[in-house]
Amino acid sequence: MASIELKAVEKWFGNVQVIKGVDLAIEEGEFIIFVGPSGCGKSTLLRMIAGLEETSRGQILIDGRDATAEAPSQRGLTMVFQSYALYPHMSVRDNMGFSLKAAGEPKDKIAAKVDHAAEVLKLGAYLDRRPKDLSGGQRQRVAIGRSIVRDPTAFLFDEPLSNLDAALRVEMRYEIAKLHQSLSATMIYVTHDQVEAMTLADRIVVLEGGKIAQIGAPRELYEHPANLFVAQFIGSPK
Ligand code: ADP
Ligand code: MG
Repeated sequence: MASIELKAVEKWFGNVQVIKGVDLAIEEGEFIIFVGPSGCGKSTLLRMIAGLEETSRGQILIDGRDATAEAPSQRGLTMVFQSYALYPHMSVRDNMGFSLKAAGEPKDKIAAKVDHAAEVLKLGAYLDRRPKDLSGGQRQRVAIGRSIVRDPTAFLFDEPLSNLDAALRVEMRYEIAKLHQSLSATMIYVTHDQVEAMTLADRIVVLEGGKIAQIGAPRELYEHPANLFVAQFIGSPK
């Protein structure tokens, strides 16, 4: 579990500013959701936390240490990509173990970690299949499994369910909630789906034009939206 703190974080692409001074303290084990309209900076902010985008100004602290200049692999976090990022020619087992193999971990250790992840994700019966022989939900579980084997202190998700049909989305939402409980890991999750945000989040961060419009528990935002933008976004009648 990790605590993650953003201090006056800014992102500039050339002379265009897309993240405009974000302050946010995420507690260990917290499930935080970033919501907001397309283009408001959700993915950019998540990628900055992961270290996949440079932070132009401000600081990112992980467990109190200044991680602003750290490479992604130094941060102890993992980004869960959409299931289409799986290797099609590899089995589920090899997809899940790939990063550990690349890091030179011994075979027995890789096998134990993959087995554990498969058990958590109920993929034990599918380890020898290829991604194309799995359902959409199973594929997304493999994508999550690739992260679990690395024992990350936090999981970062960027719209992980947006490619799934409505029924699968509901099922996977439930799976992710269970995963959060069983791993008690910090999770930061980007979505534009209000229902996902309202049901999964400990706290929701509403972004508008690269700034935080409001932060709060789902109920707080629903009952006391700070402004019309939040009210419309969260769906309150106010
Ligand atoms: P969201 O995920 O909320 O839809 P993004 O974080 O992807 O938004 O994008 C925020 C803004 O930054 C958008 O205006 C987008 O066009 C811009 N942007 C994102 N990535 C780049 C890039 N590599 N170069 C220039 N502009 C970018
Ligand atoms: Mg995005």
